[in-house]
Order: sequence, then structure tokens, then C-alpha cells
Amino acid sequence: MTDTHAHLDFLEPEELAEAAAHLPKLRAVLTLGVDPGRWEKTLSLAQGNVYAAVGLHPTSAHLLSPEVEEALRHYARSERVRAIGETGLDYYWTPETRAAQLKALDFQAALAEALGLPLVLHVRSKDGKAEEDLAAWLLLHRPKRTVLHAFSGHPALEAAGLEVGAYFSFAGPLTYRKNAALREAAARLPEDRLLVETDTPFLPPEPFRGKRNRPHYVRFTLEKLAEARGLPFAEAEALTDRNARVCFGWP
Ligand SMILES: [Zn+2]
Repeated sequence: MTDTHAHLDFLEPEELAEAAAHLPKLRAVLTLGVDPGRWEKTLSLAQGNVYAAVGLHPTSAHLLSPEVEEALRHYARSERVRAIGETGLDYYWTPETRAAQLKALDFQAALAEALGLPLVLHVRSKDGKAEEDLAAWLLLHRPKRTVLHAFSGHPALEAAGLEVGAYFSFAGPLTYRKNAALREAAARLPEDRLLVETDTPFLPPEPFRGKRNRPHYVRFTLEKLAEARGLPFAEAEALTDRNARVCFGWP
């Protein structure tokens, strides 16, 4: 199993110790440091089968400055960094910084391209506007390797993602009873574009709703993905492990 999206730096020390005890069950974990104050800690956590991504979350996009750009370029060159992000558009929490979000997105896309790294994209809004804007952005900029993190099943984003060859990463919501449409998307997307993730400590899968997530809970999302596609668990696991390895380039 591979967890392609976690924030291990958000875990309390005892939670981190518990999560670490389960890491041997996982093929690999990508932990994402989402603002300048988190990059150093994120890199310190990227050991063994844990790899790092560094970026500026859209809700922190207003922090972008020449100094922050320089620091991000510096951290992004670390051998343990396998992606840039997460970046993207969030009109749910910070609709007022739309222009800054687009600027930070463009900067991070250019950095990912220059370093040959995949770009991890976040998107959230109440009315689908951020999803529509990100779909348009994707079609315009066509990043070489990109991941739609916690894919929600938004139709325009699905179409744009397919057109540019994005990866679709499924999180805990795939297990929620009301999300039949999302399971249909998981069933129809091309098999070489599928990833699974937890977004630890957020978005816990069904049996842990209301609790804090852990990387090894990715099993529950993977079980749902296997079920949706009519695959044995081991096959879905091998498939998503392989896709993650190709996308992020770990051994
Ligand atoms: Zn995240």
C-alpha cells in the first residue's frame, strides 16, 4: 500500500510514534510540507520509506515573496523531495486571495517543471468555481506530471485531468456511503492514473470518521477502490503501488 498524501508534521509526537509503528506495512508515504514554517520539519520526517513534497498551500499563497520563492527552490532540491505541492485553488477558506493563489500555482508549476518533479494539486470550493478554474488552468498549462489530490469527482476536473494525463488520487471520502458517484469515477478512470492517499490527519475513511487519520488507514480506501473496479485487493494494491512509484520516482 502507498499513501501518496499525508501531513505527518501535523501529528502530535505520540500520534507520530503510533503512525511510525505501522509504516513498515506501507510501500511508501509522501508527506507534504505546505508552508515555509513546515518545510524543515517535513524534510526531517522524510526517512526510510517516507518521502517529502514541499510547497505553498493555496490558503498560504499570500505568503509568497522573493525570499519564500528562494527558500522553496532550496528545499525542493533535496534528494528526499519527490514532488512540489500542494498548490492549487481554495475558494472555500480563502476566496479573497484568488489572484495570489494563481500566482503561487504558476510559480510552483514552473518549479516542478524545471526540476522534473510532479505537481500536487489541491482544489476546494462551495460552488465548484475553484474546480472549474483549475480545470481551465490545467488545459492551458498542461503540466507534464500532476496529481489531483483527494479527487472529488468534479466532472470538468475529471475531463481536464484525463486530457492532460493527470493522476487521480482517492482519499477517505471514497469510502463514504453517499459518494456512489465518486466510486463510479474510480471504476471508470484509466488504471494507470489511479492513486490512493489519506491526507493524514484529515479525511479519515469510514470506520474512523470523526477521528484523526493515519497513513496505514489507506487500506480502507484501497479496499473501496478494489471493490469499485471489481479487482482483488492485492491487484489494486500492486496497481496503485506501481503508479505511485512511476509518478514519484522512488525505488
Ligand atoms: Zn494535503
